[in-house]
Parts: sequence; C-alpha cells; structure tokens
Amino acid sequence: MTEKQSVDAMRFADIEYNLSVIRERIAKAAEQSGRSADDITLMAVTKTVEPEYINHAIDCGINLIGENKVQEYLGKKPFLRNCEAHLIGHLQTNKVRQIVGEVSMIQSVDSIRLANEIAKRSLAAGITTDILAEINVGGEDSKSGIEWDSAEETIAQLAEIKGIRLQGLMAIPPVCENSDEARMFFSKMRRLFVDIRDKKLDNINMSVLSMGMSSDYCEAVLEGSTLVRVGSSIFGKRIY
Ligand SMILES: *Cc1c(COP(=O)(O)O)cnc(C)c1O
Repeated sequence: MTEKQSVDAMRFADIEYNLSVIRERIAKAAEQSGRSADDITLMAVTKTVEPEYINHAIDCGINLIGENKVQEYLGKKPFLRNCEAHLIGHLQTNKVRQIVGEVSMIQSVDSIRLANEIAKRSLAAGITTDILAEINVGGEDSKSGIEWDSAEETIAQLAEIKGIRLQGLMAIPPVCENSDEARMFFSKMRRLFVDIRDKKLDNINMSVLSMGMSSDYCEAVLEGSTLVRVGSSIFGKRIY
C-alpha cells in the first residue's frame, strides 16, 4: 500500500463509522419526537470534500449531498456517482443561470429578487425549480436569510412566482451556548413551518424543514426537523 492508500483506507473507515453513529442518533431523536428514522433525511454536506470521499459516503448509503458553491459543485459533479444534490450556500443572482437544472433543490433562497431570477431561468429551461425559503431565525446581521418579521409575507409572495415551487423552510440558527437555547430556535422555526403549512397556499408544499448541522442535529430532530445537513461529523474537520 502507498501512503495515500493507507490514509484513504483510514478516512474511508472513519466516514463509514461516523455515518453509522449519526444514523443511530437521528433514529433515537426521531423516536423521541414521535417519528421514525425514515422521516428524517440525512444530507451529507460535501463542501471542500474531494469526490472520492463523497463517493464513499454514497457507497455507504448517502443519497443526498449539499454543496455551498456553484463553481465547486459543477467542478466536482462529473466525478460523482449518481446522487441527488441541493445547493445550500448563499447564491448570487449572476450564478443562477449555471445552477438551475443542475441540482434538484435550492435551499438557500433568501430574497424575492433571487427567487425571481431562479424562476426566470427555470421557465427558460422549461422546468420548475424546487426551493426552500432560508429564514434568518436569529436576526443576525452576519447571516443571509429572510428576516423573521417579514417571513410570512415574503413566503406568500414566493407562492405567486411561476417557475419555482416552495417545498419548505431552511435555517441556520446562531451559535448557541447550550442545547436548550438551540432547541428554542428550532422550535420557533417549527411553529412558522406549521403556521404556513396550515394556510394551504397554492403552489406551496410545506414538506421540508431543513435544520440541524454537526453540532446540533439531534436538537433539530427533537424539534421537528425533516432534513439535517451534516458535514464535519461525517468527513472530519474541513481544510480550506
Ligand atoms: C457547512 C454547512 C453545513 C454543515 O456544517 P457542519 O457543521 O460541518 O455539519 C450545513 N449547512 C450549511 C448551510 C452549511 O454551509
């Protein structure tokens, strides 16, 4: 074995082990929230991760990956095994044309302007793009996302746009001191999700509540997340 081969063998084993631990924890949290493991989608967040390791995660049963950057994803895509992908990072309007049709969902829609651009490019390509509305649940200046106070109004506007279909909500809460604080933000998101779902607006299908990352996916599932986005707990610390 070359040195690279033995380092890879270790990393492959780590990925497999990490995935089994994460799946167990998700199953336990799902059960505690009155659901089953099958109700929660585990997304592997693959930013900065090379295709060979992503492919190993796919071999271990991952069927959804999340990427933050358009260029990075398009560069890696030809080397990836068949797997569904979502864009989860901030999207600039001038990159929309390149990503529409390349991923099955854009989770990070944070403005009407961006939604209109996605819709325009989707209609031109003859498709409808599934999106999530990203909500700035902690009201942080440093984060993108639709402002909490205008969330319901903005979502009603999103429902009117042809060429996109709103499938749910996404959030990245502030870094929290403890799990109670994290759960408070997730619970707030869950209430918004249910409120909007109960309005039964046309063109809105509230089925996805995307929240929870490596440090807090159990709390997120306990509070009703349907999709957790986990990166470093699967692949190890990111090296930029
Ligand atoms: C990087 C990233 C994640 C995963 O973060 P980890 O802490 O490594 O699990 C999840 N969601 C978004 C939007 C991200 O950018």
